[in-house]
Amino acid sequence: MHWMKLHGPGRFGTQPEDVLRDESILVSLILSKVSVQPNKCILWTGWKHTSGYGDIHVADRPRAGKKDLKVTRRAHRVIYELLVGPVPGNRVLDHQCNTKLCVNPAHLHVVTDGQNVRRAHREMTHCRRGHELTPDNVITAHQHHRPDQPLRTCKTCHNAAARDFYHRNRESELERRRLANLAAPEKRVEYRQRNAKKISEASKAWYLKNRESRLEKMRLQREAKKAARAAANESPTPPPSPTAYSESERHP
Ligand SMILES: [Zn+2]
Ligand SMILES: [Zn+2]
Repeated sequence: MHWMKLHGPGRFGTQPEDVLRDESILVSLILSKVSVQPNKCILWTGWKHTSGYGDIHVADRPRAGKKDLKVTRRAHRVIYELLVGPVPGNRVLDHQCNTKLCVNPAHLHVVTDGQNVRRAHREMTHCRRGHELTPDNVITAHQHHRPDQPLRTCKTCHNAAARDFYHRNRESELERRRLANLAAPEKRVEYRQRNAKKISEASKAWYLKNRESRLEKMRLQREAKKAARAAANESPTPPPSPTAYSESERHP
């Protein structure tokens, strides 16, 4: 049973629209609960579900000799069925205007759940954490079964997750590698022998790549040392004590 049927809708927000089975009354009640926007969206001003869609209370199937049970349904779906026709149970209504409260049937397309999700994904402008999906903040993954619809992922969130994974697993990964090396040291020796040429080329390339910056760093260090020495000489140090020997004494 749906939680809203269990607790009764009156406990949440405004009272739901008490709509009767009679369609003319239903239509007039619906008309009192909408506001037409300049962009032709017809916004539902009645009860609102926590998911952001409009809700409406309508009579369920009649029961002999008893009052009608009422059920809560999505307002845009009830209005679409009233004005256009029934929607198959396995289909959903996709808001082409991306406005959840809009109940204009012209803005609703009957699609499958998958089509709805994929369109939302395609038109997504921000990730769920609110980063904008600009071209340089997107990682695109090709889908073999849907080559025209690549999956887009937020680069900021992806990198943050990768960094987090790295730091969480760093210690255990290093330990695993250390143990693997301990377990088979001859493998490592054998690897170095097998790849001796590659390794020497890589180290030469590394040396050449970092030569300038290393020289620059050493130069800066030398200058810093020189400056420190100059500062030490300039600072007021006690003058050297006068020599105790006269010239004649030193050179007899
Ligand atoms: Zn609309
Ligand atoms: Zn993000």
